[in-house]
Amino acid sequence: MCGIVGYIGTKDAYSILLKGLKRLEYRGYDSAGIALIDDLNLNITKKEGKVIRLEEADCKKEGSVGIGHTRWATHGEPNDENAHPHLSNNGSLAIVHNGIIENYGSLKIELKKKGYHFSSETDTEVLVNFIEDIQKTESLSLEDAVRVALSKVVGAYAIAVISKEDTNKIVAARKGSPLVIGLKNGEYFLASDASPIVEHTNEVVYLNDGEIVVLTKENYFVKDAKDIPQTPYVQTLEIKLEELEKGGYDHFMLKEIFGQPDSIADCMRGRLNVDTGNLVLGGIQSYSKALQNADRILIVACGTSWHAGLVAEYFIEELCRIPVEVEYASEFRYRNPIIKEGDIVIAISQSGETADTLAAIELAKDRGAIVLGVVNTVGSSIARVTHEGTYLHAGPEIGVASTKAFTAQLTVLYMIFLKLAFHKGTIAQNKYRQLLTELGKIPEKAAIALKSNEKIKEISKRLKDARNFLYLGRGYNFPVALEGALKLKEISYIHAEGYPAAEMKHGPIALIDEQMPVVFIATKDGSHDKIISNIQEVKTRKGIVIASETKGDAVIPKMVDYTIEVPVTHESLMPLVSVIPLQLLSYHIALLRGTNVDQPRNLAKSVTVE
Ligand code: GLU
Repeated sequence: MCGIVGYIGTKDAYSILLKGLKRLEYRGYDSAGIALIDDLNLNITKKEGKVIRLEEADCKKEGSVGIGHTRWATHGEPNDENAHPHLSNNGSLAIVHNGIIENYGSLKIELKKKGYHFSSETDTEVLVNFIEDIQKTESLSLEDAVRVALSKVVGAYAIAVISKEDTNKIVAARKGSPLVIGLKNGEYFLASDASPIVEHTNEVVYLNDGEIVVLTKENYFVKDAKDIPQTPYVQTLEIKLEELEKGGYDHFMLKEIFGQPDSIADCMRGRLNVDTGNLVLGGIQSYSKALQNADRILIVACGTSWHAGLVAEYFIEELCRIPVEVEYASEFRYRNPIIKEGDIVIAISQSGETADTLAAIELAKDRGAIVLGVVNTVGSSIARVTHEGTYLHAGPEIGVASTKAFTAQLTVLYMIFLKLAFHKGTIAQNKYRQLLTELGKIPEKAAIALKSNEKIKEISKRLKDARNFLYLGRGYNFPVALEGALKLKEISYIHAEGYPAAEMKHGPIALIDEQMPVVFIATKDGSHDKIISNIQEVKTRKGIVIASETKGDAVIPKMVDYTIEVPVTHESLMPLVSVIPLQLLSYHIALLRGTNVDQPRNLAKSVTVE
């Protein structure tokens, strides 16, 4: 996680870096800091807490070369000492780092033997001193010292280093953590993602793993880890600045929840043609035969993306008749999974930088699998390391709790596998057309689901003080129950669990008393009667029942304490609309509890550490 920024050029770096850090704050907000070179001085200001605390701090702001950092702590608690940038012992080098240096312990022991001292508990401070030590003992340039140091480092990193002995230079490198360079005449920008760069230039280079870049005011050079010059691939950014602003909403999360009718439509635009029955997914065309012949499909993901994978499992098995396994990427990568040559692995990630998912992809590729990505962030690492893939086109998601990425992931997965079912002949022609038509109507149905906002706000007032929640659903709505519980945990800090409704009797029902809110996702589907029985079981034990039900349900409103209406759609597509009230419920409860909705404690958006 963590966000890093850098600037070298003719303008004052401070305000560019500060603004960049605000854009990257979703990646971590334990502390923030900036290092600037002014003539021959290296000035560092860093503060525990959000970027606003850094902004309020008294500090030297001069200099047109600098680096900045917003931290999600991995090594050492969030405080001023552990905040980045870190300075080397002789005061010449400053570093910002995103990632983990796994062998920092042994490096630290060696450096201590040589007389180095450390004022923080971070792995990063070890790295900057290691670079200083190599530079001193081998009399190397900054870039060579960085390269040699990194060749001895185990772990993941994106780093940027500046030196007061070499004032017209930033050296940056990446392995496992993202880094983008922005190019403008006489100015260069660097950042963990393109959001701090987009207002300055739309010409960017996404650094590849193992590459080192040297930025000066006049030029930039990219080399690989063996010091061989590389030809950078310059891309044009497509993000618009407005997409990075709140656009009148109180929070990014609310903007993103309400943006779903558009983001789902954007996701289908140019791909789904309801009139002709055509579905075109350019990104995965070369592997369509392999998909058709697949004996099984593995899905690897984390968090909300894993829930999208679970919905896909139900859908793929039902419509394509291919066995599917959905794996937590973090478990998959360490458990010697069975992967056969030609297996299809689908990797789902909003950021495209999720470290565990990246490692799972490498493992699957090493064993001969074909890996397809379902990713939101254009140019991200997962988009580049997968064989092929499909972008969500949902626009940047900034609220830490994922909302519109989930519905966009589902939309893309539905499109991929509807098409596959059609080509395999495992779906009847009329059902295919029916599902396609229903999918096309989802944006307007999402807009209808959003109309419950005011009602959900009222319900939230009654539930905000609960200490636990249960979320129950069956079939396609079971993963939605998991997602609803996750949303509540993430931003309101209320303990919540999601279960298949029928599992309740095997344990969780013991928790139910008059204090326990139980959210049922009870939309009309094949298991409607069953879920009515489950609601009855909870009411018998005096639980507080909140049920999301489909319009016209004659039974559920009479049984439960609160209802939230969702529009009718095909059972298999229901998660696209049934998740929306749950997103709103968690949003309003969190708001009433006074938590930071967009930047919940202990979390960060792009999980680039394992
Ligand atoms: N390991 C570094 C620290 O704890 C960077 C953390 C990160 O990128 O998440 O400060």
